Amino acid sequence: MNITINNRVIQLEKPTSILGAICQAGARLQSPDCGSARQWTRHPLCPAITLAEVDGMLLSGALLGRRPAGDGMTIMTSSPTIDKALAERAKMLQDCHECFFVREMQKVLAADAESAGFINLEEWEKFDFPLRTVEPSLIHDPNRCVRCRSCVEVCRDVQTVEALRFDEKQGVLIDDRRCVRCGQCIHVCPSGAISKYRKLIEFLGCHSCPFDKPLGAMREKDETKKAWAILHDRDCHPVAQFAPAVRASLAQEFCMEPGELVTGKLYAALRRLGFKQVWDTNFAADLTIMEEGSELLQRIATAGKLPMLTSCSPGWVRFAETFFPDLLPHLSTAKSPQQMLGAVAKTFAAPRLKIDPSRMKVVSFMPCTAKKAEAARPEMNSAFRFHQAHGGGSAAESYPDVDLVLTTRELVRLLKMAGLDLRCMPEEAADPLLGAYTGAAPIFGRTGGVMEAALRTAAVLLAGAPFARLEFHALETMDGVKTAAVQVGTVTLKIAVVHGLGNVRKVCESIRSGGDFASYHFIEFMACPGGCIGGGGQPIPTNLYAKGARMAGLNKDDREMHALRMSHENPEVKTLYEIFLEKPLSYISHSLLHTHYTDRSPASAGPIP
Ligand code: SF4
Ligand code: SF4
Repeated sequence: MNITINNRVIQLEKPTSILGAICQAGARLQSPDCGSARQWTRHPLCPAITLAEVDGMLLSGALLGRRPAGDGMTIMTSSPTIDKALAERAKMLQDCHECFFVREMQKVLAADAESAGFINLEEWEKFDFPLRTVEPSLIHDPNRCVRCRSCVEVCRDVQTVEALRFDEKQGVLIDDRRCVRCGQCIHVCPSGAISKYRKLIEFLGCHSCPFDKPLGAMREKDETKKAWAILHDRDCHPVAQFAPAVRASLAQEFCMEPGELVTGKLYAALRRLGFKQVWDTNFAADLTIMEEGSELLQRIATAGKLPMLTSCSPGWVRFAETFFPDLLPHLSTAKSPQQMLGAVAKTFAAPRLKIDPSRMKVVSFMPCTAKKAEAARPEMNSAFRFHQAHGGGSAAESYPDVDLVLTTRELVRLLKMAGLDLRCMPEEAADPLLGAYTGAAPIFGRTGGVMEAALRTAAVLLAGAPFARLEFHALETMDGVKTAAVQVGTVTLKIAVVHGLGNVRKVCESIRSGGDFASYHFIEFMACPGGCIGGGGQPIPTNLYAKGARMAGLNKDDREMHALRMSHENPEVKTLYEIFLEKPLSYISHSLLHTHYTDRSPASAGPIP
C-alpha cells in the first residue's frame, strides 16, 4: 500500500493506523506551546492540539491512532491549515484553559437553543458582554448563555430567592444583594452539562484531562490555579480538609460507581498533591455537634431563643441574613465544621506541629459555592485574633481561618491537573490531631444528618444513655419538610428537618408569624435540595439518582464503617477539649468556634461583602 506523507511516498508492508504510518515515515505531530496548560493535559495525543491533515481534512491525534491508513492517502503533519488551527487552539487552552472540542460542543447546544427560539445564532456569536461575578462564589458568562432561563426559574421557583432576572437585551442579570451563593443555578445550566457528549469525550481518551468539562454560562469562580500556586509555594505549609459529602460524590468523576466512598483514596491523593497534613472536615462535624448540641441544651435549660436553627449551611445563613434578619437570634452561634476546622488547625494543631500559623494555608474542598463566601467573611479570622491576644503576633495584617475553598468540581480538576486518578490510589488514613471521626459525622452531608447526629449526643447528655436505635429513618427521606417529636429523657423534643430554600422560607414564615413551627425546639435548615449531597459545587449532573447514591454512601460510612457512631465518642475531639478547649461553650470554645450574623436585608443598608 502506498501513501504520501509530507509529500514523500512511502510503502506500507502491512496494515496500520494513520498514526502508525506517520511514525513509520519518521514524521512527527507538532506540539504547540500552550504554556502551563500543556503540562496539565497529559494526554500525549490530546485531540485539541495534535493534528494532521488527511486528504485535505483536519484529523485529531486521538483519531489518527484509531483510523487505518488507506492506499493512496495523502497525509500532512505540517501545513498552513494545521499551523493556523493549532495556534488558535493553543491560545484557547493557554488563555482560558479551555478545550477547543468542548467549546465546539457548546456551539452545538447553541444551535439547539436557536431551534427552541431562545437565541438568534448569528447575534449570539457576536455577543461581547463582560463577565458578571457574584464574589467570591459565582461567575455568569453572558456570551455562553443560550438564554434558556432555567437558572432564573430555579432561583425563583425552587429557592425563592429571585436573585436573577431576564432582560431581553442583556440576558440574565444578577442581583448581588439577594443572591445567597447556593449555586443551584449552576446545576440547571445546560451549557455546563454537555453530558450527551460524555461518550465522545471518553472515546477520545479525554476523561483524565482537567479541561474535559465545559465552562458553563453559570459556574463557580474557579480557584484551582490558586490552589496549585499554594501547593508549589515553598513558604506555605498547605493542609487540606474535605467535607462529608465530597467522599461520596467524587467516584462518578473517575469512572467508579456513583456514591462509592473514596475517603481513603482521597487522603492518599491529597498527600500526593502536596498537602503536608490531610485532615477531615468530619472531625469538625463531630466538634460542631458538641458545641451546637450543648447550645441547644443550654437554650432549653435557660428558656433561651427557640426554636434553635442550625447554622452549618452558609447558603441558608445568608438567606436568613437577607430575608429573615429578625430570626437571626434563633440561629445557633456555632460555626460550620469547615470554619471550626480552620480555627483549630491554626491554634491547636499549628503549635503542636511547630508551624507558624501565618504560613499554614488551610484549603477546603466543599460541595458548596456558598462556602467560598463563608470563608471570606471578615470575622472568620479567629485564629489570627487568638494569636494576637496570646502574644503570638504575626507580621501579617490578618489571615483567615480557611485560606481557600474549592468545590468538588474544582477538586476533580486539581487532581486531574496533577495526573492523579483516584482509582489508582491506595487506601490511606487521615493525619492525626484533626482527622478522626465517628459515624455521626458523614451523615452531615445529607438532609436530616445534622439533626440525627445532634439527637444521638443529646440523648446521652440529657438522659445519660443513648437511644436504642441510632438511625432516624423518617429524617432521611427526600421530603422537603420532615417533623418528629422525640422523647429525650424527660423532654419531648419537637424537631424539624427542612431542605431547599423554598421549603425553608415557608417554615421561617411560620416561625416569624408565631405559627406551628414557632413551638419547635430545633430545626435543621439546608439551602440545597437534599443537603450537601445536592450542593451547588457538586459534580454535574447532580440529579435525584446521583443524590440517592451519595446518600447511600454516607449512610454506609455511618452504619458499616465506624464502631463509634456518636460525636462525643470521637477520641480526638475528647483530646482537643481535654488539653485545649476545656469544655463545650467554654470561653475559648466561644472565641474560636462560635460566630455572629449580620443583617443584610435591603432595609438594613448593611454592607455588600
Ligand atoms: S446562587 Fe442561588 S441565589 Fe444566587 S442566583 Fe444562583 S440560585 Fe439564585
Ligand atoms: S445561564 Fe445557563 S441556565 Fe441561565 S439562561 Fe443562560 S444558559 Fe440558561
